[in-house]
Amino acid sequence: MYHLIKTEGRARRGELVTPHGTVQTPAFMNVATCGAIKGAVSALDLKNLKCQVQLCNTYHLHLRPGDETVRKLGGLHRFTRWDGPILTDSGGFQVFSLAKLRNITEEGVTFASHIDGHRIFMGPEESMRIQSNLGSTIAMAFDECVENPAEYEYARASCDRTIRWLYRSKEEMDRLNSLPDTINRKQMLFGINQGSTYEDLRIDCMKKIRELNLDGYAIGGLAVGESAEDMYRIIEAVEPEMPKDRPRYLMGVGTPDNILESVARGVDLFDCVMPTRNARHGHVFTWEGRRNLFNAKYELDELPLDPGCDCPVCQNFSRAYLHHLFKSGEMLAMRLCVMHNIYFYNTLLERIRLSLDEGNFGQFSDQYKKELSQRI
Ligand SMILES: [Zn+2]
Repeated sequence: MYHLIKTEGRARRGELVTPHGTVQTPAFMNVATCGAIKGAVSALDLKNLKCQVQLCNTYHLHLRPGDETVRKLGGLHRFTRWDGPILTDSGGFQVFSLAKLRNITEEGVTFASHIDGHRIFMGPEESMRIQSNLGSTIAMAFDECVENPAEYEYARASCDRTIRWLYRSKEEMDRLNSLPDTINRKQMLFGINQGSTYEDLRIDCMKKIRELNLDGYAIGGLAVGESAEDMYRIIEAVEPEMPKDRPRYLMGVGTPDNILESVARGVDLFDCVMPTRNARHGHVFTWEGRRNLFNAKYELDELPLDPGCDCPVCQNFSRAYLHHLFKSGEMLAMRLCVMHNIYFYNTLLERIRLSLDEGNFGQFSDQYKKELSQRI
């Protein structure tokens, strides 16, 4: 259930109530691909990093260790020791981006595992069963994510199929939630808006999927090859058609300025591998801009990564130490920088919420949009 607390322009301050706790929105969801944040950060660490929601990948967990195994172990919450809300994606994005030799039909997709090449079939029903076995808080409908740019006719046909797949996802989820031995019988389902960069397809899709009265709606198929301007144009086109009393999730986005621009256009939820992936390569976000720790200028720099950050890393370690750890190939370098970047992203969203509470989000956004992107 979503409560809209306050608005500023199109930006929304709200609360998403789930069976595993309430999420203050706008919120960032921290990506734990295979049930762990890449960079040796556990669910216990997340508690100290202001994380509200953990996101796990259906495709990866289906291949390893297998969703049946996770089910036998009590579901993702018990398995990973994260007791807050967990969102699982549908597997669709990875099937279309990672898997080899895929074949799409009305029924679903046959593909070869990127690990050992064995052939797997996944359609809406399979995706719902896997996510039900994982026992996540929020399941995502099975969709096709089309890369941009896409031909209009392909995007239209794909979008229509995604809508038919949504009906099947909903029916299967309702059935699974009615079974006595389902791990989370209150599993929520979000539908996904598709339609590439075509406003008419996006709007038509949204009008159709909102009729299903789902727990939330995502905008998918963005940040997959189009420009930031195209992304904002599509959000602006589709947002007025999205139900006001449901959370809106922009999938796979993005940089701090992408997030500020999208909050201003009415988005509530985000997820992105950028903070963790960048951190593993020595790139950290700070309130002054981005830093690359491989830079020789940090050799004797005893300041923390970000003097304005009160994360456990900045409270204890210097840039010089982290620079040394990266140069020496120590795993700790990744772990510490991933922790800092996660804390930074969750703090960014916290400060966005605070600015909305105080009615000065516009000012906050103007101040930080450029500052956070610049390399220093
Ligand atoms: Zn920090």
